[in-house]
Amino acid sequence: PVQAAVRDTAVFELIAQEEGRQRVGLELIASENFCSAEVRAAQGSVLTNKYAEGYPGKRWYGGCEVVDEVERLAIERVKQLFGAEWANVQPHSGSSANLAVYNALIEPGDTVLGMDLSHGGHLTHGNPVNFSGLRYKIVGYKVNPDTELIDMEEVRRLAHEHQPKMIIAGASAYSRIIDFAAFREIADEVGAILFADIAHIAGLIAAGLHPNALPHAHVVASTTHKTLRGPRGGIILSNDPEIGAKIDRAVFPGYQGGPLEHVIAAKAVAFGEALQPEFKDYAAQIIRNAQALAQAFQDKGYRVVSGGTDNHLFVLDLRPQGLNGTKATKRLDANAITISKSTLPYDTEKILHGGGIRLGTPAVTTRGMTETDMPTIADLIDRALKGEDVKAEVHAFAGGFPLP
Ligand code: PLP
Repeated sequence: PVQAAVRDTAVFELIAQEEGRQRVGLELIASENFCSAEVRAAQGSVLTNKYAEGYPGKRWYGGCEVVDEVERLAIERVKQLFGAEWANVQPHSGSSANLAVYNALIEPGDTVLGMDLSHGGHLTHGNPVNFSGLRYKIVGYKVNPDTELIDMEEVRRLAHEHQPKMIIAGASAYSRIIDFAAFREIADEVGAILFADIAHIAGLIAAGLHPNALPHAHVVASTTHKTLRGPRGGIILSNDPEIGAKIDRAVFPGYQGGPLEHVIAAKAVAFGEALQPEFKDYAAQIIRNAQALAQAFQDKGYRVVSGGTDNHLFVLDLRPQGLNGTKATKRLDANAITISKSTLPYDTEKILHGGGIRLGTPAVTTRGMTETDMPTIADLIDRALKGEDVKAEVHAFAGGFPLP
């Protein structure tokens, strides 16, 4: 990398700029994190040079004896982490993992019941311009308008009415516990496959701080870069070897060629880190921080969707402040505070803007911030939203916490 930096200053100066931005900014995007130096070293390794189409022991290329061991290690560790019988660690991203699940288990035109996107579901759970919405008949379940919690009776009613082939349990912007056992009961009543998308909460599940999706779900997919704190990528898990075999085929040769063995090595490192006892402390601190941050906003009179959080994130309704997600993102960006705009359940703002923002604590927790720092963060955000310039204070505050 040193040699490359000398030769290609254009790119490496931009990387240095991004590192500086990360160092002095407050990172509250719920889906982001700072992975370890070892994860980054594995991802930046010579394994990127290797083609390895196929699976360990069954490759289409020679010279795979080392990457076979790397991939086997990643598979064994992730199976141990989530108590899974089978795992595929090759998907390049969370969305491509989800694509493999759909391709392997259902047919175009089939009905899928997933969480409504404006209530917290992900793009790949049925957005009309995504493959999911284009290829399948999507039915969305919404949260209860009063409690803003997933209403399992409503899920049951929709499942019986629409007879989906697959039910998706999982979300990108839902701050409460997901009851995978209750989803499975409903899936069994209508003969549907239960697909759990644990992308956001994977690290909390790995730490035993959110109920595991296995053994309830027939299949589980996740990203590896959010609460799990690994490299950017995807995984798929199951306890059913027949489902596993179908998904292996759907990933390769179904829609991927060569796996990214350097990323798989980085996944293996991250799974190893998540298996350590310290990771449980980290995940517990993420939740304590999210709860303290939500409380600090409530103390200032803000409305938190569903009244609080059980996990790493929450959504703030900014309509009472006369703001929307787009305006708030702009004001916070100008002050080195990064968040993502969010729609609200039963939103009255245009989808493009969203009535609120989603805040998450995985990244600030990695930097070592604790509950006692959360009122400071809420105060900086509150003042920035009101139009005050707090950038220098944010730089000084965030700069005091090390990056891995
Ligand atoms: N599933 C859920 C629930 C997500 O929140 C995300 C990411 O935002 C994904 C899948 C997709 O992951 P990726 O961005 O790696 O494609």
